[in-house]
Amino acid sequence: MSEEQVSFRDRPINMNEKGGRKWVYAKKPKGKWYFYRTIVSIVVLAFLVLAPFIKYKGYPLILLDIVNRKFIIFGAIFWAQDTFLLALIMLSFVVFVIVFTVTFGRLWCGWLCPQTIFLEMVFRKIEYLIEGDFRKRLKLDNSPWTAGKIFKKVLKHAIFMIIAILMTNVFLMWFTGPQQLFEIAATPVRENLSSFLIMLFVSGVFYFIYAYFREQICTMVCPYGRMQSVLLDSKSLIVTYDFKRGEPRGHKKGGDCIDCEQCIAVCPTGIDIRNGTQLECVNCAACIDECNNMMKKVKRPPNLIRFDSMENINTGKRLIFTGRTVAYSVVLILLLGFFIYSIASRKVIETTILRTPGIIYQENADSTISNVYNLEIVNKTHENIPLELRLLSPKGKIVIPGGNIEVKDQSKFESAFILYIPRDQITSDKTIVEFGLYDKDKLVEKYTATFVGP
Ligand code: SF4
Ligand code: SF4
Repeated sequence: MSEEQVSFRDRPINMNEKGGRKWVYAKKPKGKWYFYRTIVSIVVLAFLVLAPFIKYKGYPLILLDIVNRKFIIFGAIFWAQDTFLLALIMLSFVVFVIVFTVTFGRLWCGWLCPQTIFLEMVFRKIEYLIEGDFRKRLKLDNSPWTAGKIFKKVLKHAIFMIIAILMTNVFLMWFTGPQQLFEIAATPVRENLSSFLIMLFVSGVFYFIYAYFREQICTMVCPYGRMQSVLLDSKSLIVTYDFKRGEPRGHKKGGDCIDCEQCIAVCPTGIDIRNGTQLECVNCAACIDECNNMMKKVKRPPNLIRFDSMENINTGKRLIFTGRTVAYSVVLILLLGFFIYSIASRKVIETTILRTPGIIYQENADSTISNVYNLEIVNKTHENIPLELRLLSPKGKIVIPGGNIEVKDQSKFESAFILYIPRDQITSDKTIVEFGLYDKDKLVEKYTATFVGP
């Protein structure tokens, strides 16, 4: 074993022996998988950019309005009251990712993760265009500062900054919606200084990640990457080197691997996949393409590096669905089933009535006691609903400003009201009162609260 092979386990591949950064100069990939990945990236990028603009049932496809605690996901609106459902979606998503990873390895990272897509399909492509492929880049970085080098570097970083700012604005649109973002952008900076500073800060973070930090997000920061050693097993589908076919490597040594090291040159995280699956591998398949290109040149069969399981390489048995994947899938189906049931059976009108904090009861001249309440009604239907709040028990009177309640579709009505109850109706210092919410004469919802008295 060479010294490089012994020492590569001691530290991340993109770190030198002193703990400093070892810059990865990745070769531009070329091949079938890179083409497929480009198509997938275009679809993902289009979704990321267009999702806040596309309207479904009159609402944006995605809006994560944290300030108003209103979340729109594919036309379905979730309010703070639906936190349980949102938690269920998140939980289902985590289980889905686990099942997917156990079965198909780290495909998410190389093919769908926005970090990889922006780095490999946007920023890296611009870099190839301005500075050339990996050898030219290496040469440029090691050459003295000339007018040509300064021009290329300034041009590249200026474009990177512009893209980082555009990315930030798209990212913020997921939380504000396009309308609000355009309004903020149209107002003078001094009137929106905090929003402007947030935008600049996030843009700075994006620029730093894609211009400098790059693959270290995947190899050192992302927790999902750290979980691979727990989730993957010998039956998981991963990018793997067929060592049985490839070894002994080298020209005329007997194995198919000619030791050209092009699979290392093209790897965006700089690893040698021939050492087995590693934490740094994002399953991007660039090494498969590059090795296939080499195999074609030396007239040997393709797929020396391929999507396969270690089990299959070792034994020739392909097992996609193992006991573990079946168990995870059952959990996922149960979660999804419960989720669909919860959506289908969730209340379309949701009422909350709570005594206004900090206000005690009042004793009135007409022998009544009064309490002040806060009323919140969420209308999850797609119609405006006129509602009336009535007291069902005990006897008493509700006084609400404006009288009528009109809750607009997919929105929230908030108001305060005063409840007067005759003194003789009060049974304890905390009498239970029951309200009814009516749509004309149809009882829509009942709600109980406490009424504080002497
Ligand atoms: S080893 Fe291959 S699949 Fe893994 S990150 Fe490197 S190039 Fe991509
Ligand atoms: S690209 Fe293929 S042939 Fe070349 S070193 Fe890698 S595995 Fe061996």
